[in-house]
Amino acid sequence: MRKPMVAGNWKMNKTVKEAAALVSELLPSLKSVPSVERVICPPYPCLMQLSTLLEGSDVGLGAQNLFWEASGAYTGEVSPAMVKEFCQYVILGHSERRAYFGETDETVNKKVKAALEIGLTPIVCVGETLAENEANRTAEVVTRQVAEGLKGLSQEQAAKIVVAYEPVWAIGTGKAASGPQANDVLAKYIRPTVKDMYGEAIAQGMRILYGGSVKGSNAAEFFGQPDIDGALVGGASLKAPDFMDIVKAAAA
Ligand code: PEP
Repeated sequence: MRKPMVAGNWKMNKTVKEAAALVSELLPSLKSVPSVERVICPPYPCLMQLSTLLEGSDVGLGAQNLFWEASGAYTGEVSPAMVKEFCQYVILGHSERRAYFGETDETVNKKVKAALEIGLTPIVCVGETLAENEANRTAEVVTRQVAEGLKGLSQEQAAKIVVAYEPVWAIGTGKAASGPQANDVLAKYIRPTVKDMYGEAIAQGMRILYGGSVKGSNAAEFFGQPDIDGALVGGASLKAPDFMDIVKAAAA
């Protein structure tokens, strides 16, 4: 059995004060849904305060990125140990980082390895663009991103990975994939690629989330699919009632 997960990617939203207010509002409701692994991924400056607010709860905290080097002259970057001080999770390879900040399958792979080595759970994002989708390149792109992003791990490390399938055309657009359409990508390309790399047990045990315009009104359609184990949520994670609707749908 794969435990469902719902992770909120706050992206570049919320000051520390706003973040603390949102978590204070969310926490009582979040605590009441222990059957779902719940994770909040705010901007870096919020991590310290939110880790204090979440202490003693089983709600996880994640960063939205990290750099693979341990320390040194890398102005503006944040090391794995700095993230690990406050977090249990880290989102890696989000399509916005691939599109705006030059992340490649190779750099995603370095970050995945660095995150695992320090003891963080990586949530590794993959997904095709609209142009790639329209050119029928979804299988090729997603398979490559999984194969390159997750290569060179031990069995033990691979077992800790969470993958998020996020078609780029569905992120922040209000145009979600359909449940069966998303499930197809997981069942036909992502899980089989993991199986080829790390075997059946790891492929079947791996949580694979869907992300892209998930909201309360469509969440159940995704969570009802056999291969979809939860959601990575952007816009709808910024308001407590909206996020809770999704978390509750994952528990149902
Ligand atoms: C995301 O950025 O990971 C995401 C899924 O965004 P949204 O839910 O807003 O489409």
